[in-house]
Amino acid sequence: MHHVEPQIFLIAKTAPDSPEMRSWLDFIGADEFALPPQEAATVGQLLITLAGKRCYMSFQPGLNPNVTRVRQDLTDFIDNILKVGHGSVIEHVNYTFAIENVSRVFTAEFNRHRAGMAVSEGSMRYIRYDDLAYWIPPSIQDGDDDTPEIRVAKEKTRAIFNRAFSQMEENYQELLAVWDYESLQKFKDKKKLTSLFRRIIGMGVATGGVWTGNLRALRHIFTMRCDPAAEEEICYVASMMLQRMMEAEPAVFGDFYQEDGYWKPKYWKI
Ligand SMILES: Cc1cc2nc3c(=O)[nH]c(=O)nc-3n(C[C@H](O)[C@H](O)[C@H](O)COP(=O)(O)OP(=O)(O)OC[C@H]3O[C@@H](n4cnc5c(N)ncnc54)[C@H](O)[C@@H]3O)c2cc1C
Repeated sequence: MHHVEPQIFLIAKTAPDSPEMRSWLDFIGADEFALPPQEAATVGQLLITLAGKRCYMSFQPGLNPNVTRVRQDLTDFIDNILKVGHGSVIEHVNYTFAIENVSRVFTAEFNRHRAGMAVSEGSMRYIRYDDLAYWIPPSIQDGDDDTPEIRVAKEKTRAIFNRAFSQMEENYQELLAVWDYESLQKFKDKKKLTSLFRRIIGMGVATGGVWTGNLRALRHIFTMRCDPAAEEEICYVASMMLQRMMEAEPAVFGDFYQEDGYWKPKYWKI
């Protein structure tokens, strides 16, 4: 048994194809619209701008006779998209996170977000659990403002958690012995047993996987899950993810601000 810390890795994102974008823009008559150099715009800024401007043909004045003025600045353009709630255009961009050392408490809640999300979670059916790992949540870590009573309660709680996980490990080992697991040759037989044995493992056990979300789905998740009402682990991890997205796509996530230690968006429902 050992302790772990949740970790996030931003492993992939939508890749724009500039030559094909140029061909399309020329095809629709937006020949005066200059694509920004790759280093000057994030994929989010670029795709959201193109998708949004295609809706109104507002790439350049005169392309749509109704449009006489166009927003040139991509950040302003996206801020307006968020302000008016034209949310579907931000669905065109996906980001992929690998998330490790999170519990099944986290994944059970995170996986409920289905719209715009793709999920691949570690299988407890295939993976054998000899050494159980778990995270100690901040609510039972020592705090500077803890009263002596709270300090004692936290210490006792951590000891009970450790005992529970050690017991689970012992029980798991006993089950392996009961079924003479080491002598099994066929993967199918092993899988059947690991699938059975997972029932005695607590949902605090560390797991991980890969989650992809479009920007609209991610904004919705951060809005719901960085909130003080959210469960502490999902709030902790979602807040880490949000900060990575604020760096990666400042125009799309830059309206989130901190209040009393929690992140809130300026634009709620988009
Ligand atoms: C504080 C809190 C407590 C919770 N407690 C419980 C609980 O006790 N038990 C429990 O089962 N769940 C609970 N949940 C989970 C909750 O019910 C949702 O399943 C979860 O938050 C996923 O969010 P979402 O519905 O917005 O789905 P997402 O998939 O993130 O969807 C995004 C949005 O798309 C729209 N949408 C998505 N799917 C549909 C659909 N099928 N039909 C129509 N519109 C759709 C909705 O507007 C939705 O908000 C809780 C969530 C929170 C935040």
